Amino acid sequence: MITEGEEQDTRDDEVIRFEGVTKRYGRHDSPAVGHLDLAVTRGELVALVGPSGCGKSTILRMVNRLVEPSAGRIVVDGRDAAHTDVVALRRGIGYVIQAGGLLPHRTIRQNVATVPRLLGWDADVTRRRVDELLELVGLDGWAHGDRYPAQLSGGQQQRVGVARALAADPPVLLMDEPFGAVDPVVRDRLQSEFRRIQQELGKTVLFVTHDLDEAVKLADRIAVFSTGGVLEQIATPTTLLSEPASEFVVDFIGSDRGLRRLAVTPIRPEDLERPLVLAPADGAAYAATALELDGRAWAVVLDHGRLLGWVARGPLLEQRGSRSARVGDHTRRFPTTVAARETLRSAFSALLAQELRFLPVLDGEEFLGVLTPDVVHTALRRDL
Ligand code: ADP
Repeated sequence: MITEGEEQDTRDDEVIRFEGVTKRYGRHDSPAVGHLDLAVTRGELVALVGPSGCGKSTILRMVNRLVEPSAGRIVVDGRDAAHTDVVALRRGIGYVIQAGGLLPHRTIRQNVATVPRLLGWDADVTRRRVDELLELVGLDGWAHGDRYPAQLSGGQQQRVGVARALAADPPVLLMDEPFGAVDPVVRDRLQSEFRRIQQELGKTVLFVTHDLDEAVKLADRIAVFSTGGVLEQIATPTTLLSEPASEFVVDFIGSDRGLRRLAVTPIRPEDLERPLVLAPADGAAYAATALELDGRAWAVVLDHGRLLGWVARGPLLEQRGSRSARVGDHTRRFPTTVAARETLRSAFSALLAQELRFLPVLDGEEFLGVLTPDVVHTALRRDL
């Protein structure tokens, strides 16, 4: 028997806690999930990853009691799920599955209004809430609301699925491969938008995915499972990729973990190259000599600290004899710059999208240095 007193022992910031949870589907089968201890704190997004059949969906479905544990207990928002009325429990938990799991014969608005209707909300309040949610997920209520799911693209259906799960403002979201059925470009956008919404609303999320890159991009922590629902490691994406805790995790992450770390590695100013800096008023002769000493074929041009562009050695050498030629006459603008708060991944892709092999990094207006392929290499090799 679980008493009220025992239930209150959950730490305040823990919204979902698994305590020694085991699930066996058949009486003699080996467990699908074996003695799982795991806590998810408020506002956190924890991704569950691992090979197919390792128990991820089972873990998720035990939280809203679509599956009942064989042993152990799950505490959701301070209450033992097994002792909470299942309807009340599910009201506090949004559930998003692949392709949105929408009701095909109901319009988008009706789909989003499912839970408010079950809760007996006033029609006006419900309508306003539906409008608000469709706007939140980027679907204008008038353009899409009266259509049926089949008339929407996969990505749009998925947005509706998220809106529906958020309708009654549940503190917890369970998401089972929610973006698995949409194409990579749309998925990327949905992931970014979802992460923004989740952080803005402070929802606590358990997120099942077989896509490690998705987990790295979205999660605060990633839980890696092996068959039998065995928790191999739970860690932030950075720690997981740089310090895998077992051979299993090393194999699961794969040999391209160095590349995966791009997405979670910040740009460190101290890693950037500091090229020669010239001013627009510098003479060509001085600049050409400085560049020869520097050894690079280009320099950055700053005007009182403000980035103007870059200058190549060639034209300066040609103008060396001219008394009037200035660096400013030969300065070219950078096609792109990158902000210091971006990840190496977005900086590196910006670098690849342009012809130049160097990309200036700015902190606000301040020029910090340039990113080159060498800088990326150094940053990723560190801690490996
Ligand atoms: P994952 O989500 O990681 O692919 P699942 O949780 O779906 O894993 O499944 C874990 C294990 O439990 C698998 O061996 C699967 O075959 C088994 N399983 C899942 N659901 C059922 C069920 N309803 N009845 C019997 N076995 C099941």
